[in-house]
Amino acid sequence: MKIEAGVATHVGQVRSGNEDAYLLEPPLYAVADGMGGHRGGEVASQLALTTIAESFRKGAAPFAEQVQAANRAVFERSGADRAVAGMGTTLTAAVIQGDLAHLVHVGDSRAYLLRAGSLRQLTDDHTLVNRMVKAGEITPAEAEVHPHRNVLVRALGTEPDVPLDEQDVGLLDGDRLLLCSDGLTGMITEEQIQAILGATEGAPQEAADRLVTAANHAGGVDNITVVVLDVLADDGATEEGAGAPAPGTTTQAATEQPARPARTPDARRRWWRIVIIVGIVVVALGAALTGARALIDTRWYVGVANGHVAIYQGIPADVFGYDLSHVVEEETDIPAAAAEALPLYSSLASGINVDSRADADARVEQIRRDVRRAARGVTGGHA
Ligand code: MG
Repeated sequence: MKIEAGVATHVGQVRSGNEDAYLLEPPLYAVADGMGGHRGGEVASQLALTTIAESFRKGAAPFAEQVQAANRAVFERSGADRAVAGMGTTLTAAVIQGDLAHLVHVGDSRAYLLRAGSLRQLTDDHTLVNRMVKAGEITPAEAEVHPHRNVLVRALGTEPDVPLDEQDVGLLDGDRLLLCSDGLTGMITEEQIQAILGATEGAPQEAADRLVTAANHAGGVDNITVVVLDVLADDGATEEGAGAPAPGTTTQAATEQPARPARTPDARRRWWRIVIIVGIVVVALGAALTGARALIDTRWYVGVANGHVAIYQGIPADVFGYDLSHVVEEETDIPAAAAEALPLYSSLASGINVDSRADADARVEQIRRDVRRAARGVTGGHA
């Protein structure tokens, strides 16, 4: 197969520096999204990719081992230099040989495959929210807007060893691979990505530029990096990325080998600590909500249900979309419109707070009397 590549990276509309990095070293392509403070993020993504590029050129070890070496390089630099302590990076890399793409992935950058017009995510985000989605705790839609959607559970360079996701993807003529940082996927939907990729067939650089532009138009709150790889049937002329902007090519084989180092006890302890802390936060939030719910349930108000005056338990409000009233205790036969026509009850629809169920009943009876009096031509008045 022949590969034509397009690439674009952009700082976005909010950040002051670009902590993303990419690598076009045919047949190796990668994106990395650094983290750990402004400087740390830049150092981590660059160091990871330059380390991988150098070892890849030498072709000495299986690719997964080269990635592990890059992990150690970032980890060791992080431990040696206080200015970048704790840094790390995502890595989504593809080594394309023949009709196979070998993917190695850590973090929340992504690889997608566009085949016959439809887009499929190939990688799995190593994020807390994705873990919660898989556990059935939240929906994918909730994950997209979750306040902690950026929290990674795995990154390159934060531990002495890192578990890598690896897979081989068989390629067909006309396939398009997309590697991207979360600055793209956090800003525009997969439908939008699919539409842009579909509308730029045969022009990978235009695809990359348009994806970045779309993410910037959508807000550009993070750095945006995309690598678009068009897979074309080899006409026998070249194996190299004809459209690749980066200099330097290599035909060295990177042995594909599913090396999967076990997590160290230290790493396990650290993850368990994160899991436990998150658990405590979730339980505390749950308790707070349950307490608030119990308190709210002691409240009553008179409002409107189905066009009639009604008694509710709760309070007439919602907080962040969480409805704090819930039970219509009683729907009366008093038309709401008749009550709302009286100045005293003009705000009935937004609820009249009372202290107890008995008070609610008394208020309903008051409304009933006032409505009757008004119907008889007597002005509804203050009791
Ligand atoms: Mg990012």
